[in-house]
Amino acid sequence: MSERLHPAEWDRDTGPFFAAAREGRLVYRRCNACGRGNHVPMASCRYCGSTETEWRESEGTGTLYSWTTVMHGVHPAWPVPYTVVIVALDDAPDVRLTGSLPGAPELNAGQAMQVWFESIGEGRVLPNWRPAEAKQERGQS
Ligand SMILES: [Zn+2]
Repeated sequence: MSERLHPAEWDRDTGPFFAAAREGRLVYRRCNACGRGNHVPMASCRYCGSTETEWRESEGTGTLYSWTTVMHGVHPAWPVPYTVVIVALDDAPDVRLTGSLPGAPELNAGQAMQVWFESIGEGRVLPNWRPAEAKQERGQS
């Protein structure tokens, strides 16, 4: 059995992030006092402590901040190799989100990334990331 681990969608602070993903939207928590994005979302801003924060919709583009390729399997839901990526949002660079790519693709720090929404069963959806070039396939002719 290779069931994926599911996020805690019932959590007061993080639940809206996953609810938006089910609707194909990427959201992040923005602080109205200092203007920075916060992730993981929580009750107060991690930078200035203000509780004046709100959900903002992201354009869903980012840049590759870091990555690592996993070669040693630890769970049947994650066949190796796979590459874990950390992406900084273009519209909120303080917000860095994780994703994964199959295999060991050639990547470059700072390259453009595009969000996509991965169904993981039971109606659950996670934001995931891929190089932005992959999204342009439809437009090429
Ligand atoms: Zn703040």
